[in-house]
Amino acid sequence: MNLAINEAWKYQILTYPNPAVGCVIVDKFGKILAIKAHQKAGLAHAELSAVISAFEAKFKDTSLPKNPSKAYEYILANHDGFLNGAKAFVTLEPCSHHGKTPPCANLLNKLGFSEVIIGSYDNTDAASGGGKLLQKNGVKVKFGILKERCDELLAPFLAWQSGNFSFLKLGMSLNGVVSGGVITGLGARVLVHKIRSVLPLLAIGGNTVRIDRPTLDSRLANGIYKTYDAVKTDENECKIGELVCSDYETNIRAFDEKYPSKVNKKNYKTDSNSQKIDSSFCQTNDTFYKTHNANTFEVADTYKTHSTHNPDVFIYSRQKEFDKTIPLFSIAKRKVIIGDDIKFVRSYPLCMFEGGQNLLANLPEFVEYVLIFFAPNFLNLANLSANLKLKLLNLCEIDGEFYGWFKIVKK
Ligand SMILES: [Zn+2]
Repeated sequence: MNLAINEAWKYQILTYPNPAVGCVIVDKFGKILAIKAHQKAGLAHAELSAVISAFEAKFKDTSLPKNPSKAYEYILANHDGFLNGAKAFVTLEPCSHHGKTPPCANLLNKLGFSEVIIGSYDNTDAASGGGKLLQKNGVKVKFGILKERCDELLAPFLAWQSGNFSFLKLGMSLNGVVSGGVITGLGARVLVHKIRSVLPLLAIGGNTVRIDRPTLDSRLANGIYKTYDAVKTDENECKIGELVCSDYETNIRAFDEKYPSKVNKKNYKTDSNSQKIDSSFCQTNDTFYKTHNANTFEVADTYKTHSTHNPDVFIYSRQKEFDKTIPLFSIAKRKVIIGDDIKFVRSYPLCMFEGGQNLLANLPEFVEYVLIFFAPNFLNLANLSANLKLKLLNLCEIDGEFYGWFKIVKK
């Protein structure tokens, strides 16, 4: 269950408006077959994602449909009983309703799982009852395993469902310096941009806006500044994705799904000697890619600007005058609200506070979680001064740095 919990934390917030959920599948001998999490709304739930992973490994079959509902049907038609007697550990009770995908409880039942071990109960009207459905069909169900950790993982979802979830994000050096320019590396920044790409509202202090002149957009969410060694060619075909580092893999796959006809097909014409992407394709077909040299490419500028959602911004400031040439004011489809009543942010279901010293010192009562990115260095600058007790919820590594989710311990 710990493995399922840790995997799910990697996608905390990114699954919005869905909950972060993790799933581990072990076979009847106890061997781990898959550790997966729900990654994004619209993609497979954790259980289906784990089943897909186990299925692909077992049958060396990578021809599964990308569409989750179709993959679900494909597996039910072709599983050959390979999960008979298997156990699933799921951080949240499997769903029993038809959402964007068919119900996970039904999937586990039909695949012949003998036992499902569940962390948190699902109390939502729409999705609950998965445990009962399994029990009714003779599957052994255990509830409440590592329940406290599973509940902490689920808490943001329950909070935004019942009104608002707000958290603070900080990036700091090991000695607690948060100022003086960009502190964390590309991996951490890409993750923050991914969070922004699903975020309804971002809150920031007025002083930070005046001094840093930020953009606060999600332009890095697709890893666009990364140049990929990702083009593998053979004869007339060109495949994308095999050498992509894991942080960017999802984006390439997403591209595959959206434009299936343009991937692994002859639209990508290659010269078998030089292994180049056909330059005319790159420049004319929607200019999604531009080549740099024989084996690398990056997503082109036009794709950047249309690809992601950007959050509205609440500037917490008594002084209402701002220089409107600060980049954050010129992001399309964005509302900027300037105000001194911090409770305003609770009119949005999900809000990330980005800030430093001032915000930390005046953190509103309703902020319960803190996300901190640590760069592995010390900086010879003034560090944060605050009086705050935190409980570590989860720790992750990213691109040689690390970040943690913490819960504020109330006095
Ligand atoms: Zn589900």
